[in-house]
Amino acid sequence: MVNKKPTSHPHNEPPELAQALLALMHAQGEVARLSEREQLFSSLLDSVNAVLWAFDWESRQVLYVSPAYERIFGRPAHLLLADFNQWRDSIYPDDLDYAERSLAEVLVKGAVEDREYRIIDADGNVRWLSDKCFINQQTDNEHRLIVVGMAEDITEKKRVEGELQLLATTDVLTQSSNRRHFFDCAQEAFEVARREHTPLTFLLLDIDDFKQINDTYGHQEGDYVLQHIADTGKAVLRHGDLFGRIGGEEFAAVFPGCTPQVAEQIAERLQREIQRLQFSHDQQVFGVTVSQGLTGISEVDSSLDSLFARADAAMYQAKRQGKNQIVIG
Ligand code: GH3
Ligand code: MG
Ligand code: MG
Repeated sequence: MVNKKPTSHPHNEPPELAQALLALMHAQGEVARLSEREQLFSSLLDSVNAVLWAFDWESRQVLYVSPAYERIFGRPAHLLLADFNQWRDSIYPDDLDYAERSLAEVLVKGAVEDREYRIIDADGNVRWLSDKCFINQQTDNEHRLIVVGMAEDITEKKRVEGELQLLATTDVLTQSSNRRHFFDCAQEAFEVARREHTPLTFLLLDIDDFKQINDTYGHQEGDYVLQHIADTGKAVLRHGDLFGRIGGEEFAAVFPGCTPQVAEQIAERLQREIQRLQFSHDQQVFGVTVSQGLTGISEVDSSLDSLFARADAAMYQAKRQGKNQIVIG
């Protein structure tokens, strides 16, 4: 019979020690996992192009700000953590009131998700932010009001939106308002004038014998004439007046707060400036004239259409009377 020597094997150690060892290994694994998660979380925060932040409402203290703050605002995070006014100082002055009011709304609403405002970064560039904020529900101390938020840089999105808006509202050839945009704005101005009982004048302008210009000097020269007439219109009109190209060689203007008598003076100036334009094609010099019809809003005008129809009739009367003139309808 062989007498076996006892071997050293964990199973033979006292169970308490084995359990302690297992617990230690488990704890080490847990620490490793936690630090892995922390690293993952921190690299996520770093790569996201949005600033995550937490703010103690009562003490006006920024409790946390993610690394994107330094990238987007271009300011050191420790200064913001030391002084909340760093955030206010970054805001584009015109937007400061709105940014503060909409932040305070979170107290009533619990969440404000549609805040958009501009900041000026360290290089002096204006950036658009979408800065959503929420009341933190998981706060351990009920008396402490913590607001958390996420500020995303939406500058590029705003730029594209602006370009699309411009494309949708502008006439490509003359860079003035297109027909739809002009009438949308005219409708708004009409409603304001009706509501507030203020004057408003509508003007129509049609180039005289434009077909002949095209036929004699070519379509491209005609386009050039259209561009110059549009430029003259924009130069003569005042800030707040509306101007647009509403047809091939037809333009329209709306003068809010302006009686037909005052608008007529602007129309006369427009008439003179257009007559002074000189074009040349193959050594031939030529000019253009326009016919204009204008009319003021009155109590009987229940819609913009009736005003437009009266200006149109006045413009056609100017044509019938020999063109190159202004008729008030
Ligand atoms: P009237 O004095 O009675 O207004 O005569 P008109 O020749 O100006 O008017 P008509 O309606 O007979 O002709 C308008 C011309 O405008 C015809 C059209 O080819 C031209 N036209 C319309 N849109 C454009 C454009 O974008 N570019 C150019 N070059 N011509 C255009
Ligand atoms: Mg016409
Ligand atoms: Mg014409």
